[in-house]
Amino acid sequence: MDAVKNSILIVGGGIGGLAAALACATQGARPHVMERAAEFSEVGAGIQMGPNVTRTLFGWGLEKPLQEVIFTPQQLNVRDTQSGAVLGVLRLGERSLARYGAPYVTIHRADLHQVLLNKVLSTGAAELSLNCEIDLLRDGEEGITVNGRGLPEGFFETLQTEAMVGADGLWSATRQYVVPKTQPRVTGLLAYRALLPVQDLPQKLRTQDVTVWVGPRVHAVMYPVRRGEFLNLVAIVHGRPPESLEDWDHAANKRDLDLAMGQTHADLKEVLAAVKTWSLWPLCDRPPVQGPDEMAKGRIALLGDAAHPMRPFLAQGAGMAIEDAAELGACWARAELPVSVRWQLYAKARWARNAKVQQRAIRNGQIFHLQGPLRWGRDLAMKNLGESLMDVPWLYKGP
Ligand SMILES: Cc1cc2nc3c(=O)[nH]c(=O)nc-3n(C[C@H](O)[C@H](O)[C@H](O)COP(=O)(O)OP(=O)(O)OC[C@H]3O[C@@H](n4cnc5c(N)ncnc54)[C@H](O)[C@@H]3O)c2cc1C
Repeated sequence: MDAVKNSILIVGGGIGGLAAALACATQGARPHVMERAAEFSEVGAGIQMGPNVTRTLFGWGLEKPLQEVIFTPQQLNVRDTQSGAVLGVLRLGERSLARYGAPYVTIHRADLHQVLLNKVLSTGAAELSLNCEIDLLRDGEEGITVNGRGLPEGFFETLQTEAMVGADGLWSATRQYVVPKTQPRVTGLLAYRALLPVQDLPQKLRTQDVTVWVGPRVHAVMYPVRRGEFLNLVAIVHGRPPESLEDWDHAANKRDLDLAMGQTHADLKEVLAAVKTWSLWPLCDRPPVQGPDEMAKGRIALLGDAAHPMRPFLAQGAGMAIEDAAELGACWARAELPVSVRWQLYAKARWARNAKVQQRAIRNGQIFHLQGPLRWGRDLAMKNLGESLMDVPWLYKGP
């Protein structure tokens, strides 16, 4: 047992897996991150991070490297896709700092991942392995035993570890050891994503803000990333997913998107028209977590999308993975307790907040896409209640 003391096998080296490695290493763990891909990297495009997330990351000493790559938008505007009318404004910038003590930022996923990876490498926080998957052999009193498999057909070795963390994303293989026989669900929503170099955009299409365009059965979100050098764009429409769901990117058909967006205001139309290549991403999620048993069992804990994949309409999927990681580290510090109890504490601390964010993300999507009289009611509520309707203190204040 001494040989495996303090060892944590983290399956998946995405944002959640690396964050977990950092948080647990600070508490005396010896994490080993096993990643299936041939290199540590992130595809995709931008993400937003609320003050609940930047507070945690800054607390890990990442403020300086993050400042070099983030963008700090001044406000979030909600606009009507058809009329272009501004329906509501939430001030971010200074207000986020004053109210929540941390900034609201946007970042390219690859930049966030690189900042986390640099920290792991520079501090020696974790052992890192690429090109491998694991199969669980035993989760018992003496620890966990797994078979590590090199990919495509490399080494095959039996490993022992004191604890394991499944951070292997939406299509998690480790999830089956905690919650058997469940699959992600197809939401019927498609995300078209693009990244535009700002220098290629006419001046009037450049922005310092996050803008959420809402319309009947559609919405689009745009904001600068990478110090403001790129504009990140996501358009969400209803539609049938292509055959293969496991692929991140698909060559998307611009015509399909234009059809789904319908009539759009000139400002939105021009930005959409400036995109040369769209990536198509069918959105999947899982029903909100129902209890702590869905986040940990024995010596195995789940984290991030492996535990609670969510619709991106509250912009908090990666944020919740980072919050999970911080809690995991805090629970690991309870060295006087058996690992299974530490992971139960983690699951109990995290499940309800994750479930609430999952639920609110679903609800936001429905509100964004309202039609007819309900849409009119939404617009009126935004006009009357303004910022108080758009702010999310329970979320931004942190867990
Ligand atoms: C359109 C869109 C917009 C979004 N916007 C935001 C936003 O604004 N803010 C926000 O916070 N979140 C956002 N998200 C959500 C966010 O991207 C995810 O929640 C987050 O990336 C999850 O991180 P993760 O580490 O849990 O999983 P992943 O990023 O999926 O990482 C999992 C890792 O595990 C590896 N892996 C998979 N299977 C195995 C295996 N069997 N063995 C070993 N390794 C394996 C993968 O290669 C990958 O490296 C958005 C998502 C979408 C779709």
